[in-house]
Amino acid sequence: MNDTTALQAELDLLARNLRWFYDRPTRALFEDLASRLGGVTGHDPMAVIQAFDADAFAAVGSDSELRDRIADLAAALRDELAGAPALDPGQRVVAYLSAEFALCDPLKTYSGGLGVLAGDHLRSASDLALPLVAVGLAYRDGYFTQTVDGTGNQVSSPAPNDLARSAAVPVVDAAGRRVVVHVPMGDGEVAVQAWRLSVGRVPLILLDTDIEGQPEGHRAITWHLYGGDRDTRIRQELVLGVGGVRMLHAMGVDPSLYHLNEGHAAFAALERLGVYRRAGQDLATALASVRGELHFTTHTPVPAGHDTFDHGLAAYHLAPLSHHLGVPFDQLWDLATGPGFPVWNQTVLALKLAERTNGVARLHGEVSRSMFASLWPHRDVANVPIDHVTNGVHPTSWTGPEIAELLDGYVPGWRRGTDPAAWQALRDLDPAVLWDARQRARARLLSAVQARLQRRAQRTGVSAGGEGLDPQALTIGFARRFATYKRGTLMLRDMDRLGEILSDTERPIQILVAGKAHPADRDGQAVLRQLVEASGDPRLAGKLVFVEGYDLELGGLLTSGCDVWLNTPLRPKEASGTSGMKAAMNGGLNLSVLDGWWDEAVSDQGRHAEVGIGWSIGDRAPVTDVTERDTADAAEVYRLLADEVGPTFYDRDEAGLPQRWLKMAIDAIVLLSPVYSTHRMLGDYARRYGVEGA
Ligand SMILES: *Cc1c(COP(=O)(O)O)cnc(C)c1O
Repeated sequence: MNDTTALQAELDLLARNLRWFYDRPTRALFEDLASRLGGVTGHDPMAVIQAFDADAFAAVGSDSELRDRIADLAAALRDELAGAPALDPGQRVVAYLSAEFALCDPLKTYSGGLGVLAGDHLRSASDLALPLVAVGLAYRDGYFTQTVDGTGNQVSSPAPNDLARSAAVPVVDAAGRRVVVHVPMGDGEVAVQAWRLSVGRVPLILLDTDIEGQPEGHRAITWHLYGGDRDTRIRQELVLGVGGVRMLHAMGVDPSLYHLNEGHAAFAALERLGVYRRAGQDLATALASVRGELHFTTHTPVPAGHDTFDHGLAAYHLAPLSHHLGVPFDQLWDLATGPGFPVWNQTVLALKLAERTNGVARLHGEVSRSMFASLWPHRDVANVPIDHVTNGVHPTSWTGPEIAELLDGYVPGWRRGTDPAAWQALRDLDPAVLWDARQRARARLLSAVQARLQRRAQRTGVSAGGEGLDPQALTIGFARRFATYKRGTLMLRDMDRLGEILSDTERPIQILVAGKAHPADRDGQAVLRQLVEASGDPRLAGKLVFVEGYDLELGGLLTSGCDVWLNTPLRPKEASGTSGMKAAMNGGLNLSVLDGWWDEAVSDQGRHAEVGIGWSIGDRAPVTDVTERDTADAAEVYRLLADEVGPTFYDRDEAGLPQRWLKMAIDAIVLLSPVYSTHRMLGDYARRYGVEGA
């Protein structure tokens, strides 16, 4: 192999494995390579290698330092891949099915928190060498790209995925032909092909119906992420659930356990039922066999978040499958409905057919047990068989470079470990060093934000605000989907009061806001518009800005650079939330309603804090009057900002250090990062899966 061929193979390996997203040295390599090419950014390693021509190969080949760097990174990746667990028949293998995965910004295969969690699940499974294969959908168009016009309207542009030019490779058989499976629906069999991606050691199989020669109605099934009507949705879910199981089998993978990440994948249960029925089991025996191999995670306490299909639609699309199963449709209907759940409900189906089911935080487990208690009329709510596994975030993906460097020095095992005792070493850290890291992280964030604001101002011809931003000022982040229960405008309830707090000349505070509203959610778009309008309100003096285009990069910048992470959902509607965990890992302090993960962090880890891990808004009292609660919570936010958060941040010693603040930041990192990590979460799941990592 000559050197150009070797170099090409190494770059190809590094660009195609989505490990680059969380491996900083690989990411830096592609940024450096991009800067030599002109016209490409390092944002997408596939675009970088596609822009490589003979001159570029020659130039890199003759730069021995760069050449060695590439060879070393490729060797490290090959070593890591050599430790991948076998996925052969006979081994215990987990199939993880999800409608979305957030892998990197160039691949638009996610819409929000569910996808980010699924992506972190895979990244962590790779680190821990768990025998896991993931299955999702190959969307031709991902969730939209967001810009905001001069008057605060969200503009959504298409976010295409050009799979053929992406890191994905076609799934083929031994003869090099595409593997195709068929999924029965109301109007016939739909052909499904697949693409394979690698997330470190974990394979991700994306299913695609856009096959030439297939009727347009079938080709279109995987065109849009969560796009279209109920008919498209049930078709997508048939492809994911039924097609996912069939594709794995066609590829020679025989999972011992299927993890359904949210109800979208619930049809996998019916396909497995068919497998046991065809093997001659009666319905009761087949149901018991299926139950033993299913694990289901439910992700939201908001009823609209659970997929339902009316009788006509379900009967139409499930008729062929019901025939195939030898189970009349009426009996299938009974599996997906129940007291209080009158129409086909994917969550109900998954709850009834999976032996193990869980919510994503302790409080969410509790809320889910009462939400679905009517399905178990003979049990007390406390004995409804829904457990919880609290979510986490992938440490290497979400820790900014400044804090990662400190952890490398003090907690050498932080990238893979979860032993809380190991983090205690950080208590020896010189507060001045931590402060310096935090200041640099904030400055990095603010310069990225200024650049984004400038781009928007140039595009719209209207100032995007931000004239009051100061890289030294206490910076609060608020970034999330603008669903109304998240109460994005809570902080705007008293603009005079907020203005007073932000403009305190001794203790200035600034707020960075980002997030998308679903294009069909008018209320969510109104929330967004109000936030953009507020950014131009003279009372706030340019100290609140809306940063458009919330994506993984912006999510990482905000959670690693903000001093405080604000979260104001209406309790208990936030199932878990994970952005606050990212902030905590970076030494950011949470200012949050006692909901989702924060509710249990305060009860469990908060007790061990030397000074505190953050601030809680309100208490755990049930909400009786929403308006009253909004008013009370807003007042509490203002009070905490003015009396606690601001004074703690600006209370400096003679060296200019906010000693108490820095102690809180250490408490947050030490106590929260080993617990709210996907490594801990994967450990919890692995015990329930009955598998072990390396
Ligand atoms: C972490 C993250 C999320 C999920 O955070 P929540 O707290 O659940 O809202 C969503 N989008 C992006 C880009 C993220 O980085």
